[in-house]
Amino acid sequence: MKFKAYTLRNLREIPYINRLSEEEIFQIEVTSQVFPFKTNNYVVEKLIDWENAPDDPLFILNFPQKDMLRPEHYNLVASAYREGNPERLRDIVKEIRYTLNPHPAGQLELNLPTFRGKKLKGIQHKYRETVLFFAKRAQTCHAYCTFCFRWPQFIGDTELKIGSNDISELIDYLGEHPEVTDLLFTGGDPMTMKASLFAEYIDAIISADLHNIRNIRIGSRVLTYWPYRFITDDDADILLETFERIVNSGMHLAFMAHFNHPRELETEEVEQAIKRIRETGAEIRTQSPILRNINDDPDIWAEMWERQVQLGCIPYYMFMVRDTGAQQYFGVPIVEAYNIFRDAFRQVSGLARTVRGPVMSTTPGKIHILGVSYVRGEPVINLTMLQGRDPDWVMRPFYAEYDEDAYWLDELVPAFGKESFFFEDSFGELEYSLFGDLN
Ligand SMILES: *Cc1c(COP(=O)(O)O)cnc(C)c1O
Ligand code: SF4
Repeated sequence: MKFKAYTLRNLREIPYINRLSEEEIFQIEVTSQVFPFKTNNYVVEKLIDWENAPDDPLFILNFPQKDMLRPEHYNLVASAYREGNPERLRDIVKEIRYTLNPHPAGQLELNLPTFRGKKLKGIQHKYRETVLFFAKRAQTCHAYCTFCFRWPQFIGDTELKIGSNDISELIDYLGEHPEVTDLLFTGGDPMTMKASLFAEYIDAIISADLHNIRNIRIGSRVLTYWPYRFITDDDADILLETFERIVNSGMHLAFMAHFNHPRELETEEVEQAIKRIRETGAEIRTQSPILRNINDDPDIWAEMWERQVQLGCIPYYMFMVRDTGAQQYFGVPIVEAYNIFRDAFRQVSGLARTVRGPVMSTTPGKIHILGVSYVRGEPVINLTMLQGRDPDWVMRPFYAEYDEDAYWLDELVPAFGKESFFFEDSFGELEYSLFGDLN
């Protein structure tokens, strides 16, 4: 298959789009003024069940929905769009985007390391062992998830973009930080890079012979959006050979694949792509947020994890959706997410129970929701940290008051009448919402 992107510009050329009503198409046009819209021919022809559109989960994954905007915002955009006044439309859209928390938890400031007197763009170092690299040529994806928290990177607002070209700076940084064992390529999607460019980065890292770097990770959704990347794309073989060079250099290659729904694992193409990746010696670990309207059902998760294990992938994380963009559309409350996780976890064998969740990537750390306990008859939410901005915070149990309506850490109240959570004492003024990584 040859890659064909569909965006707002050629929305009406999408095969099957006429299964939608004129009103439904109009709603996509309006909502995608705010949220970036991009899909492709593989998603349209092989993943979406058009019989069920617009309710099909795979449809909702790529096509912005009216309810992702608050009604007053939707009406504002719709009227400016109808009017055909591009300036007014632009101003309204800009204003709305800024109300949607485009940089949750200091994504731009807090996690950029300072090195030799300057802030490194395109590198984030939050947790001791792992450095994230945002390659400049990877600030896009083969399709855009409507729930994506990286959405400011796609809207062409350069102020909001992060990204780096400079591999030598990265290598110097890694060399001076012996505590770092993992280098994670992220984006956008690093698998949108040409294989030759990716190979340049990798060969520079291999020849730098950094003894501390033992694991290369690639955070990617390409297995869902474009499995041909490993099968028929012109440079598929070069890419796979590069994977092999990583493995042969003695490093572990972890392909962190992002799947939201079992249907993404059903095509022949994805099966072949997984097989080819695994043949290089790489391991595939999987992660996904829990999403209302897409996968808020334990059976979906159980099926997805079982299928992943069967294909040789290792279930890794279930995330909570971040407090940005369309969180009110996709968000699932903490207690409900825990119940879904537990009901799914109970159904699968130990091989799939490598998964951890639900996990909130917040400013202080990755918070693991362990469940609801009763202490002297009172329910409390039981939490711990899998990663902490301060490594000393990891795996300390802590408790929040039971609250079925809380979606995120900032809505939780410490249990037992305590004034603050233990990590807040040292955390001072910082507002904690989120930051972390999905891809
Ligand atoms: C999740 C995350 C990592 C990786 O954490 P692991 O638990 O090692 O998978 C690294 N950096 C950031 C910022 C993250 O959010
Ligand atoms: S969630 Fe990942 S794959 Fe989806 S649009 Fe965002 S960065 Fe791209």
